[in-house]
Amino acid sequence: MDNSGYNMGENDDVACTSEDSSRVKEHSYEQREALPGEPRCTICGRYGEYICDQTDDDICSLQCKSILLSRLAARENNIKERKPIVNITVTDECFYVRNEGLTNDQVASLRNKMGISVKGESVPDPVVSFSSCNIAQKLETNIETAGFVMPTPVQMQTIPAALRNRNLLVSAETGSGKTASFLVPIISHCSQARSDQSTQDKRPLAMVLAPTRELCVQVEEQAKVLGKGLPFKTALVVGGDAMPSQIYRIGNGVELIIGTPGRLLDLLKKHDIDLSELSILVLDEVDCLLQKGFIEQVMEIVTALPQPQIWMFSATVSNEVERMASSIACNLILISCGKANEPNKSVKQVAIWVESNQKKKKLFEILSSPRHFKSPAVVFVGSRLGSEMLSEAVTVTTGLKAIAIHGEKTMKERREGMKMFLTGEVPVVVCTGVLGRGMDLLKVRQVIIFDMPSSIEEYVHQVGRASSREGEEGTAIFFINGEDKKLFGDLVRVLKSAGTAVPPQLASYKPPSSVSHGKCNKKRRVGL
Ligand code: ADP
Ligand code: MG
Repeated sequence: MDNSGYNMGENDDVACTSEDSSRVKEHSYEQREALPGEPRCTICGRYGEYICDQTDDDICSLQCKSILLSRLAARENNIKERKPIVNITVTDECFYVRNEGLTNDQVASLRNKMGISVKGESVPDPVVSFSSCNIAQKLETNIETAGFVMPTPVQMQTIPAALRNRNLLVSAETGSGKTASFLVPIISHCSQARSDQSTQDKRPLAMVLAPTRELCVQVEEQAKVLGKGLPFKTALVVGGDAMPSQIYRIGNGVELIIGTPGRLLDLLKKHDIDLSELSILVLDEVDCLLQKGFIEQVMEIVTALPQPQIWMFSATVSNEVERMASSIACNLILISCGKANEPNKSVKQVAIWVESNQKKKKLFEILSSPRHFKSPAVVFVGSRLGSEMLSEAVTVTTGLKAIAIHGEKTMKERREGMKMFLTGEVPVVVCTGVLGRGMDLLKVRQVIIFDMPSSIEEYVHQVGRASSREGEEGTAIFFINGEDKKLFGDLVRVLKSAGTAVPPQLASYKPPSSVSHGKCNKKRRVGL
């Protein structure tokens, strides 16, 4: 609680600062980000300009105040955990029908060996096989058919916790199998709920939100593989695909809706979709979904749902995201696998100091060198136009087939482009950050970050696209120069921890001494 602000009644005069206007901000998106040292909204993390008159919490707007109060009301009603899954009685025995019977020491040693750490109340034990999860035989068969012999570490801990109806915040490196850690419990729940239902209920039971269309497409593809032959249908709700067909599909009955927040909200506002049975909400790439541009939409969706369990996933989970996640979902279990917030260890990072006007030349040198170029490669650039121009220049200069993928391309063009790339027809993709998140580019051996992204988290995700899956080492080359100064501190830390050589210009960089932002703005107490 911030003491520098002061509480005001509804009709008090407004303290005179540049931030204040006569109108109390209604929505969190109207509020600016908090500066270092300023109070933050307890719900969304933006500037906590006001103090809630009922709880004394810092809040940014009336919208967040109402979310805060509804949560408190739920808590007071003793709703410690989210509503139990429909038609499943939750008992300790429910999940552990085929308990692996591990002792506490064995559980600790398993977590230690697998690099799993957990926080939270009564965290379920990890499992070492899918068959210990008490899931339908058909689902087990589908998992085997997908080639998953054993659960990955994140799946070992997440699947049992999810099957126990808990709220989760999971961080694990890219390529570690997070998608199946939410799809397996979703499919298990849906197929069980549908087979238990005497009526032919068609209302959706689960929803996955992800920040990009491509990622949604991939989640749906994996859901189809794992849910084959079970009472489990999916609907994809992303921009670029016609809305009437999406509505038609949902109307005919689906178990899982997968979509981007904007399109989904648009659809929910325009059409009457009954979400009253929805009991699982997944936020994939949650750190991205809780940022400006997404957070308002995500919050609107969360508040429209009937208290589902919430499972949140990302490779990068900052303290800020952890705090926001805890305010969205109570009694959270935090699971983290591997070294959090660092790129996949099996990717070799190579830093090249190159001035901006020399970057193209450097790129062409790499792509033309049989020693340095590893096909297929993804080149990340900062703008859509840059992606178009650079892909053309690559083809003209090096003779390599290259395509551009970015947010302005139609869904069809993006799908076709990805297909050509993944089948090996095109060895180079030049793209914007749209491909940086979560895309499962299985065969990418090389990432070249032509323009550094604006945050270290984004960098980690882009590097992760070259993760060595199936034992083959990937490489991430990045171009850096004085224009990327604000990333230097974090970058040096990440490179050192990976044992990567740090260019002398980067190593000798001294950060400016921290700037004081002075006293916090005076605050007013908000009544509804
Ligand atoms: P993340 O979301 O953590 O970045 P994905 O869920 O996209 O990772 O998984 C990366 C790859 O690993 C995918 O090709 C997926 O099919 C594969 N995979 C997932 N789980 C397993 C498993 N248990 N065994 C083998 N491969 C797996
Ligand atoms: Mg993922």
